[in-house]
Amino acid sequence: MNIHEYQARELLIKFGVPVPAAIVVTNPMDAAKAFDKLVTRQHGGGMAVVKAQVHAGGRGKGGGVRMVRSSDEARKAATEILTRPLVTPQTPPEGVPVTKLMVAAGVEIAKEYYLAIAVDRKNSAPIIVASAEGGMDIEQVAREKPEAIIREPISPIAGLAPYQARKIAYRLGFKGQQVRMAGKIMHQLSDLFLKCDCSLAEINPLIVTKPTDEHPDGVVMAVDAKINFDENALIRQEDIRSLEDPTEVNADEAHASRFGLSYIKLDGSIGCLVNGAGLAMATMDIIKLHGGEPANFLDVGGSASEEAVTEAFRIILQDPKVNGVLVNIFGGIAKCDTIARAIVVAAKEVGFTVPLVVRLEGTNVEEARKILEEAKAEIPTMQIGGDLTEAAKMITAATAA
Ligand code: ADP
Ligand code: MG
Repeated sequence: MNIHEYQARELLIKFGVPVPAAIVVTNPMDAAKAFDKLVTRQHGGGMAVVKAQVHAGGRGKGGGVRMVRSSDEARKAATEILTRPLVTPQTPPEGVPVTKLMVAAGVEIAKEYYLAIAVDRKNSAPIIVASAEGGMDIEQVAREKPEAIIREPISPIAGLAPYQARKIAYRLGFKGQQVRMAGKIMHQLSDLFLKCDCSLAEINPLIVTKPTDEHPDGVVMAVDAKINFDENALIRQEDIRSLEDPTEVNADEAHASRFGLSYIKLDGSIGCLVNGAGLAMATMDIIKLHGGEPANFLDVGGSASEEAVTEAFRIILQDPKVNGVLVNIFGGIAKCDTIARAIVVAAKEVGFTVPLVVRLEGTNVEEARKILEEAKAEIPTMQIGGDLTEAAKMITAATAA
């Protein structure tokens, strides 16, 4: 589960991480007022930042983060961001609508760093990932200069050790008071990560402000944050669960998850109904191999009920781009006859106007074949595929025609 930057900022504050002052607004007039409040409160600089609150990152590159130097500029920037979809390297090409903005006090940045905690699957433990080359191009740094990225595993039981934080701070090039400030933030972030069951807690950029008389080494603080949570742990994270923004969740994906289905919509035209994530990936690959484009990833799970499978067909067929459906089931715990019955029910309830290719193998396959044979008259667009390659060829041929 993902949350907005302004919500991530609140969590950082709760764990003690310094962040610039900020106000969330939904219209240009309030953005102007927020500027006046923030900029008089702040020492020097006279600048604020108007930031689109959407789940996609890379906002700076798409005009979703604007520096403003007056309340009038804040109002104009807010109007521009709110009235057109935001397109960034992480949004669909048509962009995403923006309804909320965060106006943050501008800080004088001396240098930007990257600091994140993620799950290291290889070590089955959290890992700190940090770089002195933070900011908007961290993806490029990871690709072209992997040696500029520091990695340090964290004990899931003991948490981050003080010596680790110091080592990372020195390797990032922090000096004087900065070492202590950055180390403290690493501990706070690691605390947040473990206590809130995060799958990712990322600060990009972590910054050092320009030196002042009061802070000759500057101040280390978080200027942007992205936090994701492990959905399997939400059952014990009521407060976190309540942060979910339903407008950011794909309605079909949410609907599917209520039926225990893992559904992810894609851009192609061949709907896929498969059991098991690995088989679903393999099915998508083989569709592509034969020149088709999958319309979705759908794993109906190991113990799919007739009801859930019928719902799965409903979701797939609702997508106007779908011009064919490939069912690929390997019956283990899920039984082929259950799937066959669900196909018949779905055909009656939803109706298959598009080609349907069914490939079933495993538990109760004989009975399943019988059910489908008998239903052939009711589902004229259905073909039964032998093996996976044959089924993939059938569906790509049927949809290409
Ligand atoms: P995104 O990662 O979505 O592009 P960020 O919040 O990281 O959005 O903003 C992009 C850049 O804008 C940052 O790398 C930083 O240089 C600048 N920026 C963001 N917030 C502030 C702020 N409060 N004060 C000064 N500069 C900022
Ligand atoms: Mg950022």
